[in-house]
Amino acid sequence: MSPVLVSLADGLGHGLIGDRVLSEAGRATIAIENPATGRVFARVGAATATDARAAIETARVAQLDWKRRGGHERGRLLERWFDRITAQARDLAHVMVLEQGKPMAEALAEVAYAASYVKFYAEEAKRLHGEAIPSSSGQRRQFVVREPVGVCAAITPWNFPAAMVTRKAAPALAAGCAMVLKPSELTPLTALLLVELALAAGLPPGLLNVVVGDAAEIGGVLTASPVVRMLSFTGSTRVGQLLMAQCAPTVKKLGLELGGNAPFIVFDDADLDDAVEGALASKFRNAGQTCVCANRLYVQDGIHDAFAAKLTARVRELRPGSGFDERSTQGPLINRAARDKAMAHIHDARAHGARVVCGGEIVDGPGHFMQPTVLTDVTPQMLCHREETFGPVAPLIRFQSEDQVVAWANASEFGLASYFFSRDIARCFRVAEAIEAGMVGINTGLISSEDVPFGGVKQSGLGREGSRHGLDEYTELKLMSFGSL
Ligand code: NAD
Repeated sequence: MSPVLVSLADGLGHGLIGDRVLSEAGRATIAIENPATGRVFARVGAATATDARAAIETARVAQLDWKRRGGHERGRLLERWFDRITAQARDLAHVMVLEQGKPMAEALAEVAYAASYVKFYAEEAKRLHGEAIPSSSGQRRQFVVREPVGVCAAITPWNFPAAMVTRKAAPALAAGCAMVLKPSELTPLTALLLVELALAAGLPPGLLNVVVGDAAEIGGVLTASPVVRMLSFTGSTRVGQLLMAQCAPTVKKLGLELGGNAPFIVFDDADLDDAVEGALASKFRNAGQTCVCANRLYVQDGIHDAFAAKLTARVRELRPGSGFDERSTQGPLINRAARDKAMAHIHDARAHGARVVCGGEIVDGPGHFMQPTVLTDVTPQMLCHREETFGPVAPLIRFQSEDQVVAWANASEFGLASYFFSRDIARCFRVAEAIEAGMVGINTGLISSEDVPFGGVKQSGLGREGSRHGLDEYTELKLMSFGSL
C-alpha cells in the first residue's frame, strides 16, 4: 500500500522521503491556488533544508541497490509505472487542471505525453550498451561501460507539471540513478500524484523523493551537496544561471532546459493554411506558456496580410475559460504576475506603434484570464520581440528577404525552438541549417515527442532530454583498460 501524498478530499498534499510522508502535525504549509478562480484550494506540507538533506541521504542509500539491479528489471518497474499513469490519466489531468488551469483536453494530452517518456525509457533501460575499442597494442583490451551518475536532483517548472517530471525521472531511474525532486511550488500536486503512482507500481521507496518548499533554500541544499552528482533543471534562464554557479564548487553534471524566444517564420511560398494552424498550435497551446512557443512571428511581405487575416479569424474562435468547461480552449495564466507581464508587452508594443488586431485586454472576473491577442506592425525593438512573453500574444513582424529574417531570428541570446514554413526544398535545408536553435520545426508548429532530443543552444540550456540521448545525461562513461590478460 503506498503512502497517500495527495488527498484532494482533505485539500492536502505531502512531500515524501523514502517511505516517510512529510505530514506531521505542526508542519508549515504552502498554499496552492487555482489560477482559474484565484482561490486557494489545497495546501502542501513545506519541506525544510533538513528534509532536503534527509532526502539526499535516503536517495544515496536506495541507489546503491537500484544500480545493481539490471536494466531489464528497472525497465519492468517503469513499465508498471506507465500502466498506472495510463490507468489514472483522468485523475492526473483533473489535478493538473485545478493547479495549472489548462483545458482538460490539453491536460489529458500532457498525461499521455508524460507517460510516453516512462514507456520509452522502460524500453531503453535494456539498451545501456557500452563499447569495445580496439587497441594499438596487441596486448591491451579496452572496454567502455555506462554507469549511473548516482543521486540526481531535479527542479521542475509549473507549465507542464507532469511531463517535466517524467522527462527527468524516467531516464534517471532507467539508468540506475535515484532522484530528489523539487517541483514548482505552484503545481506540486501533479508531481506528488505521479510519485504516488510510481510507489503503487512497486518502485522501491527512496528512489524518488519529493521536497516541496522554499525554492532558494531547497535549491541551496541540493546544489551544495557533494552527494548529488547531477542537477537537471527546467525553468527560466535567470534561475538556471544561478543554479549553474551554485553547482560549480561541487562540479556537478548539469542538464539545463531554460528559456526560449522562438522565431516562427512564414515565407511567401508557404502553404497558408498549414502556417496558420502551425502558428495556432505553437503560439496558443497552454495559453502561450510553453518554452518552445512561437514568440516572434515573422511574415514575408507577399503573404503577410492574408496570414494576418486568417490567423486573426482563427484566434477569435479561441475561448478563454475554466479548464473544466468543455467549450474552453484557453486556460488562465498561471498567476497575476504572469498576466501582468504579458499585458505589459502589449502596452509597450502599442505605445511604440503596434496595432492590436484582436484581443489585447484581460478578461474581467475571477482568475488570471486574458484575451488571445494578435499584434501587427511589430518591430524588433519592442519588448514582445526581445523577451519571452509567455502568454497568448502573437506579434507579427513583416519582413522582405530570407537573409534579413535569418539575421533577425538569430539575433537573440536564446536558441531553443524555431519554426518556419516554406514549400521550397532548397530553402528548407538552407534555413534549417542557418538557424541557431536546438530544434527546428519545418512546416509544423509541434516538434516535441519522447523519441527525439529536446534542448537548446546558447542561453537556452545544456544537454538534451528525450530519445536515447536523454539517457546520456544520467550516465557516466567508465573506461576499463586491461594492460595484459
Ligand atoms: P522559474 O525558473 O521561476 O522556476 C522553475 C523552477 O525553479 C521552480 O521549481 C522554482 O521553484 C525553482 N526555483 C526558482 N528559484 C529558485 C532558486 N533560487 N533556487 C532553486 N530553485 C528555484 O521558471 P518558471 O516560471 O517556473 O517557468 C517558466 C520558465 O521556464 C520559462 O522561462 C520557460 O521558457 C522555461 N521552461 C523551459 C523549458 C525547457 O525545456 N527549456 C520547459 C518549460 C519551461
